[in-house]
Amino acid sequence: MNEHDSERIGGLLMADGMTPTESVEDARIVVLNTCAIRENADNRLYGNLGHLKPLKARNPDLRIVVAGCLAQKDQGEIQRRAPWVDVVIGTHALPNLLDLLRLAEEEGPVMDVREYTEIFPSALPAARTDAFRAWVSIAVGCDNACTFCIVPFVRGAQRSRPIGDILAEIQGLVRAGVVEVTLLGQNVNTYGRDLTVPGSSRRPRFAQLLREVNEVDGLRRIRFTSPHPHDFTPDVIDAMASSEAVCEHIHFPLQSGSDRVLKAMQRSYRRERYLDWLTRIREAIPGIAVSTDIIVGFPGETAEDFADTLEVVERARFDGAYTFQYSPRPGTRAASMDEQLPKEVVQERFERLVALQSAITAAANRAQVGRTFEVLVEGGGKRRGSTQARTRTNRIVHLRQELPPGTFVEARITDAGVHHLIGETVSTPATVAV
Ligand code: SF4
Repeated sequence: MNEHDSERIGGLLMADGMTPTESVEDARIVVLNTCAIRENADNRLYGNLGHLKPLKARNPDLRIVVAGCLAQKDQGEIQRRAPWVDVVIGTHALPNLLDLLRLAEEEGPVMDVREYTEIFPSALPAARTDAFRAWVSIAVGCDNACTFCIVPFVRGAQRSRPIGDILAEIQGLVRAGVVEVTLLGQNVNTYGRDLTVPGSSRRPRFAQLLREVNEVDGLRRIRFTSPHPHDFTPDVIDAMASSEAVCEHIHFPLQSGSDRVLKAMQRSYRRERYLDWLTRIREAIPGIAVSTDIIVGFPGETAEDFADTLEVVERARFDGAYTFQYSPRPGTRAASMDEQLPKEVVQERFERLVALQSAITAAANRAQVGRTFEVLVEGGGKRRGSTQARTRTNRIVHLRQELPPGTFVEARITDAGVHHLIGETVSTPATVAV
């Protein structure tokens, strides 16, 4: 969501005649778009602002903007600690960026941290790094209250975007050369709960949205993130299975394999229910890849709780996992819970989890060797003359050949590591999107 907002900030400034610079010394406007999910986000923000202070002293025309979740959370604190900041703009106020910059020119430092999104950032111009794929916001905010998470405090309650607006944006993107979209929401499964269908008491549902996006001519790949296991519904599996463009990959956050910890996290599903969903998803969509998020060392997590997580990881056979060591986010309920675990305990558990998951991921990747997949070229690989591409199952494939980004090719997998596959093309580029 933060990257999506950065694209819109860039788009707004470029629509106003700005061009990006390589170096901060050459900049007329510097925007720090912050993400409060990351550890130490505030230390890094104030560190960066400290570096900008002498620059501002040398060049009073420089405008410094702090945007994003920390701006929403810290509000007036930012200009108190760094009075050389010109604009503080919260997550709901992005459309006002240019007006705020002009106001700051005339009147000095300004702040807009309104509590409600009036215009979805998706309606703003975007400066996208890729011309062939795009983020599309379907809802902002979240109505859950996971005890470790800062999102509800900085993004507010869920607000869904009408299906017509989403489809219009995607149709425009496809006309501009986009072949892959990722639908974005904090909890895509509750999409539409806050909307009504005109002339009916029904509400649009995520499964319906998937089917309608699938009908957009020329769109080859649909991804989405993230579904919440508690709100997951069978109609989403049906829509995924029957919609050709929906990729065979799901990111399905587990967070913990211990029912006791899930309860303390206020994640309202339990491990067996989670595993049951996985079985149903895999039965309906053969070959689907599943990735997840897991937090290690949540306050009060015992050795038995952690063993439960390892057991679920063994049983679930995730194709990949984002693993995190728990660290408190000030303002969340978990941050003030007793029984915060010592760093060395969390570290030791984390290493065991990473070792287990890496072995499972490596085995899943080795099982792809010898198979052929359609891959979408993303750009140059790390080595000269190589290319990075991606399967529909979200696996990265390195090809020893230069190909234009946005190209679809068939690739046969020749080797596999933990983080990527190696492949060779077995077809000529099929579709050049850009
Ligand atoms: S569902 Fe996701 S965004 Fe919402 S509170 Fe929980 S972790 Fe945060």
